[in-house]
Amino acid sequence: MQLNYIANAFVPSSSGKTIAMIDPSDGQVFEDIQRSNAHDIDTAVVAAQDCFELVWRRISAAERGRLLMKLATKVAAHADELALIEQRDCGKPVKQAKADAAALARYFEFYAGACDKLMGETIPYLDGYSVMTWREPHGVTGHIIPWNYPMQIFGRSVGGALAAGNVCVVKPAEDACLSLLRVAELAAEAGFPAGAVNIVTGYGHEVGDALARHPGIDHISFTGSPSVGTLIQQVAAERHCPVTLELGGKSPQIVFADADLDAAIPTIINAIVQNAGQTCSAGSRLLVEQAVYEPLLERLGKAFESLQVGPAAMDLDVGPLIRQSQQQRVWDFLSDAQVANIPMVAQGQIVDAAPDTGFYQAPTLLRDVPPQHRLAQEEVFGPVLCAMSFKSEDHAVELANSTRFGLVTGIWTRDGARQFRMAKRVKAGQVFINNYGAGGGVELPFGGVKSSGYGREKGFEALYGFTTLKTLAVRHG
Ligand code: NAD
Repeated sequence: MQLNYIANAFVPSSSGKTIAMIDPSDGQVFEDIQRSNAHDIDTAVVAAQDCFELVWRRISAAERGRLLMKLATKVAAHADELALIEQRDCGKPVKQAKADAAALARYFEFYAGACDKLMGETIPYLDGYSVMTWREPHGVTGHIIPWNYPMQIFGRSVGGALAAGNVCVVKPAEDACLSLLRVAELAAEAGFPAGAVNIVTGYGHEVGDALARHPGIDHISFTGSPSVGTLIQQVAAERHCPVTLELGGKSPQIVFADADLDAAIPTIINAIVQNAGQTCSAGSRLLVEQAVYEPLLERLGKAFESLQVGPAAMDLDVGPLIRQSQQQRVWDFLSDAQVANIPMVAQGQIVDAAPDTGFYQAPTLLRDVPPQHRLAQEEVFGPVLCAMSFKSEDHAVELANSTRFGLVTGIWTRDGARQFRMAKRVKAGQVFINNYGAGGGVELPFGGVKSSGYGREKGFEALYGFTTLKTLAVRHG
């Protein structure tokens, strides 16, 4: 049984209750975690507050950097172990799980180097004054994390918060949290003081809600669904607690007739099948200029048919979805497509070795999806690519901006002027020209507009969100 991690020790929840963890590859229970409650959150917040007041706020920025670097080294040394945990917990194919562990180490490495480079300014002002700004940590930051990329999202969120001088209370998703409990233990081994990194597991409506409401939480970083993001924002508003919201997306991949299709095709596919489509920035809408719509769909159809789906340990193109309800969600979208006579171009194959009790879904390519249909408007969060054609640049922009989301846009064209015109007109937090995701570099600020959320994580930019600015004006005559 897995316990919470508070003040550098594994402790049970005061509830005495647990939640069963299910392996998505076979649908079987393999572990229990704590079903924590508001009391456990309070214990973690008090531990974090003590750590901040007594130890952490006195530690120099350079020393924080050294600790983060030691943690990066530890994570890298335990990458295979962490990847194996994530593989079982989330159903991630081996390569993806290893990539996530490597990204976690890289986040800590990046933020290790950033700690002592976060500076304020001096401001020219009236004669007789000296004015400066200080970037100060919020204090105790709360982190609510989803199940799709536990390690990566922990790395970008907790890594940034620690680098900026905060201490953290983390509520991972109830479906996938085991890797993070191990990372917290590694943080203690790396020398982080008790209370700097605390993990409390449990259900969102219980322990997540308690975290968001706790008066000792000075900033909330939430990554998850738009509907829960709304709840978090409302709860935080009651005490004017600052919030960063990293929510969903319905991101377009836009292909013009002059695009290099050979380069585009594997990227288009990866952008929707990676992590079985359970990626906030999945390129789930494919907008194609009319002249290449048919040839591109033909080639993509063949590629989709060759995609193989199976247990995480088999390390195929696609693993299982996280849980049965997620599988049902994808099935519901696909049956809506049938009802609306949306044509299916192709599907991948679920291998025979995949247990019937696992949560598998073959990657699916749909075409001529009406732009206002819910398949083109809502997150499926599964490996379903919705294609539609456009007539002109204006039409492409109109379609790209036609959802409530604005997270990522990919644009494929060889026309340099059009690249910039399009990049300026699409509503998104990140725009990729002739690529999609740029390899997910930790250096690249990430976040959305509209219902994709606000605030930025990743990159140096995140550190501004994890600090508050104090202005000091000294009158010396
Ligand atoms: P979710 O919103 O259901 O859960 C996310 C986290 O919030 C979990 O830890 C959950 O326990 C917690 N939670 C649920 N209800 C809560 C409540 N009432 N109060 C406080 N916490 C609560 O989302 P999910 O299904 O785990 O993840 C999928 C969603 O996350 C998708 O919409 C996806 O696009 C989004 N996502 C966004 C990003 C991004 O960076 N923009 C990254 C990954 C996932």
